[in-house]
Amino acid sequence: MLRNPQRPPRRPDKQGATSVKRSTIFSALTLSVLLAGAGTIHGASKLNVMATTEDLAALAREVGGDKVNVDSIAKGYQDPHFVEAKPSFLLKLQKADLLAVVGLQLEIGWLPPLQAQSRNSKIQVGGTGYLDMSQYCQILEIPTGQVTRAMGDVHPLGNPHYWLDPQNGRRIAKAFTDKLSQMDSADASYFAQRYTDFDQRLTSAEKGWEAKMAPYRGRKVVTYHRSWPSFCERFGLQVVDYVEPRPGIPPTPSHTLDVINKMKAENVKLILVEPYFDLRTPNAIAQAVGGRDVVLMPSVGGAKEITNYFQLFDYDINLLINAFSGK
Ligand SMILES: [Zn+2]
Repeated sequence: MLRNPQRPPRRPDKQGATSVKRSTIFSALTLSVLLAGAGTIHGASKLNVMATTEDLAALAREVGGDKVNVDSIAKGYQDPHFVEAKPSFLLKLQKADLLAVVGLQLEIGWLPPLQAQSRNSKIQVGGTGYLDMSQYCQILEIPTGQVTRAMGDVHPLGNPHYWLDPQNGRRIAKAFTDKLSQMDSADASYFAQRYTDFDQRLTSAEKGWEAKMAPYRGRKVVTYHRSWPSFCERFGLQVVDYVEPRPGIPPTPSHTLDVINKMKAENVKLILVEPYFDLRTPNAIAQAVGGRDVVLMPSVGGAKEITNYFQLFDYDINLLINAFSGK
């Protein structure tokens, strides 16, 4: 312990020394009691929500506000099909009261081992703290025939990129509202009020996005991966082909040639690319058809200015408008 050399040592008065010691013990006890109390109020009573993606985390924050702690696993600039299962996620999953997933096998390559190793029974499939958002949303491209991952297709149960339709964002927020209210009924009216507020802000934002996209309804595009069917259906774009021959399968020369021919035949000039793919093939296609490729963000966190669900659509719609208008 450091002592101030200028300060004279305390007088060795037995009586005084004892009273100082007592008051120190009392203060320490008081402090620890207060801290324990504070922990109960601000720590233990807050639900710990883990989301597999930043999009789900952003929607959980919209509803949960300061009554929940929210964290996510996959970063918005990563391919959500292929995320490294880092051990650092285990501690977070161990403490989670709720695990929200996109589902439809989006996370199948990396989440199951983390869930198993977390030894947290609540967040296992079917557990009280497991929430599969695909159950609440409108899902496109559900295969009618048999599709398995053995065929290399990473969308065997339908398209898992459904959060890119704001209507599905609304459904996800509602599912969070219901689940959080069930888990923390004392704050149910708080969650309900925040959902109503989010719903109103989203309705207003949707009008703006639709107005901006209205001049480009019916435009044809090619996308790298099948990330955009929900987005394109909502905003009136038509996807005519994909750079990947199948979801999750890298481009091949023969398929690339097919894409070029189709784009030429249908006069398609724009290729939308997710931020985690190599741009060489899209660049080559764009050059061959006299068009351009644009890196669009499929998730919150994909770019530093996309910190919430609204900014995701603001960002992408601005990029698209600039691309369509030749800026
Ligand atoms: Zn996908």
